Amino acid sequence: MCGIFGIGGHDDAANLAYLGLYALQHRGQESAGIAAGDDDGRLAVQVGMGHVAEIFREEVLRRLPGRRAIGHTRYSTAGSSVVANAQPIVVRTSMGTLALVHNGNLTNARELRRELERSGSIFQTTSDTEVVLHLMARNPRRDLVDSLMVALEQVEGAFSLLLLGENVLVAARDRHGFRPLLLGDLDGAPCFASESCAFDLLGARTVREVELGEVIALRLGSPELESHRLRGTVRPTRCVFEHVYFARPDSLLFGESVSEVRRRMGAQLAREQPAAADLVVPVLDSGLLAGLGFSRESGLPLEFGLIRNHYVGRTFIEPKQSIRNFGVKIKLNPVRGVIEGRRIVLVDDSIVRGTTSRKIVRMVREAGAREVHLRISSPPTRWPCYYGIDTPTRTDLIAARSDIEEIRAFVEADSLGYLSLEGLLSAVRSPGESFCTACWTGDYRVPPAGEERAQAALFPREEEGR
Ligand code: AMP
Repeated sequence: MCGIFGIGGHDDAANLAYLGLYALQHRGQESAGIAAGDDDGRLAVQVGMGHVAEIFREEVLRRLPGRRAIGHTRYSTAGSSVVANAQPIVVRTSMGTLALVHNGNLTNARELRRELERSGSIFQTTSDTEVVLHLMARNPRRDLVDSLMVALEQVEGAFSLLLLGENVLVAARDRHGFRPLLLGDLDGAPCFASESCAFDLLGARTVREVELGEVIALRLGSPELESHRLRGTVRPTRCVFEHVYFARPDSLLFGESVSEVRRRMGAQLAREQPAAADLVVPVLDSGLLAGLGFSRESGLPLEFGLIRNHYVGRTFIEPKQSIRNFGVKIKLNPVRGVIEGRRIVLVDDSIVRGTTSRKIVRMVREAGAREVHLRISSPPTRWPCYYGIDTPTRTDLIAARSDIEEIRAFVEADSLGYLSLEGLLSAVRSPGESFCTACWTGDYRVPPAGEERAQAALFPREEEGR
């Protein structure tokens, strides 16, 4: 879970990267950074903890001159939450200074890191991304793009990444396409972004997806884009959870409108898991569009029975021990006038640990709901993600150890219904595409690393009959 943005050949490169990251803030709120390169090959970088708008004040952006820039918003999935792990990661090599931003998780990073350290590499961070730079430094080629491709052919797992060298900007996507990456055009300047909402803010045109296994290079002084291919078989396994939860609904993702896909998921959920109720109440913002789809299909009115405070960051600090435990109330507040005496269909996109869902169900009941029917627009999350979505270990995933009735009892709902996998896939219409569904099925197309495999194998028998 990270957002990346890059642009080449534009006088306002760093400012545009700032705006692009601003639109991608939902993909990571922990840290952000921008590296910019001028026409003499000098690279400057600024990173910080917190939100994009807090870090990139005017004076900070002024320290990022040049016509090329890449940027990153981070949500730590591999490596701890410290500024040393903020991206871009910048290193000095025999090929000059390099800056790298990465979205996705590499499944063999630990093994590669161990080997590299054994032969003398000194890592600056605990993030898996740095492995790519060390592999490049080990295999310097006259052409930086070749060196990157050699490195990328050794890593496994998920990567959508951007590399800024002294005279080239490169975009690359793994052969599975787990994480999104788009090519755009802003008045002739090529740009790259995780989601199209970043292009919309800039007024850039979405050209196409960076293809699976594609490496696109933009060399200093040339307007032409070079397209290269990584060796190996292309096996499309795009992450459907991006459609379910992670991407912004105003984005185009894998060629489809996220908003429409989510509505279709909600409509299908209404067909598969109807509820005798008076009202549909979406859990904001995650359940909004599925809630709309559910409401239209079922004919039940949708009402905003929960209101969200939009100013709560992920790192809300509760001010005093004596007034602790605000819990979910700090983010969501029920509207008693809407809920009281009603039978509510509460729609959300997923249940992970179940603890937040339980608090929301309780809150709705305390606001006077007569019944609470929880409907989830994806199947039970039973397996952790090794490709860049932040999910806890199997032991913490409620659906890995409980059946639907046990989950219903835990979240204290009157009924609980999940969307089926078939139903979910029918809502994603990209023709001929195949998606990664590992978080629901445990079908990991790229095997996780040794230790993770052991972890994934916990509770193996529980899959039977579910
Ligand atoms: P819980 O009931 O504690 O499992 O929380 C469920 C809520 O977590 C839902 O509103 C989801 O939208 C949200 N959610 C799902 N996946 C993630 C994730 N990877 N990171 C943060 N929140 C998530």
